[in-house]
Amino acid sequence: MTEQASAEIKNATRLGMVVDLDKCMGCWTCAVACKQENDVPEGMFYLRVLTIGGEGIDVPAGTFPNLSLAYQTTNCFHCDNPPCVKACPVQATYKQDNGLVAVDYDRCIGCRYCMVACPYDNRVFNWRDPVQDPAADVAPVGYVEPRRKGVVEKCTFCEHRVSEGLEPRCVVVCPAGARTFGDLDDPDSEVSRLLRERASYVVFPEKGTEPSVHYLTRVGPKAIAERGEA
Ligand code: SF4
Ligand code: SF4
Repeated sequence: MTEQASAEIKNATRLGMVVDLDKCMGCWTCAVACKQENDVPEGMFYLRVLTIGGEGIDVPAGTFPNLSLAYQTTNCFHCDNPPCVKACPVQATYKQDNGLVAVDYDRCIGCRYCMVACPYDNRVFNWRDPVQDPAADVAPVGYVEPRRKGVVEKCTFCEHRVSEGLEPRCVVVCPAGARTFGDLDDPDSEVSRLLRERASYVVFPEKGTEPSVHYLTRVGPKAIAERGEA
């Protein structure tokens, strides 16, 4: 990463992510790396890869030979107007100056109001004491505190890396280069450029949550044919 990119992350006022659905191949590398980086216990994911169209994971929509298969990853969208923050009765969930929606696990009482408030199912309740098998502590930068049983967890945009001017691990590991991270408020950032140059969407814009994770609309020949524009 360049020094300029690192400074952009450190000085950001609205950190966000752009995911190119034309590039995503549903390999789950981002999801697994997220679990490693954040010591996410068995049975829990901060980041999931959804199959678009079919009825199950990796199941295409349609009938042979007219099949289509696409993917959309989902993790906390670090909304600019986050309903989870408003719902939390003890202010354990809060918004930082860089736009990141964070959780103070010492304050969390596990009431799960935030899970109900999140329209995207992007939070997970920790039902048991964290068990890693095999034990994993691969976070190359910083230290991720273990969470106790009975709290609600979620993606932190790898807060421990961002504070060092580094991208979240899911962005770094994606073999397809589908994930881009940066300051949505900076017109010169790569995320802003992508959003200017490509058609994109956020999930459930009608909810008014203003997500900071944007998806670039698929534009490949297959996507165009599926939309009936060919
Ligand atoms: Fe898609 Fe990249 Fe995640 Fe693989 S690592 S599922 S290509 S976003
Ligand atoms: Fe809160 Fe859900 Fe938005 Fe994340 S995606 S900030 S958990 S409402």
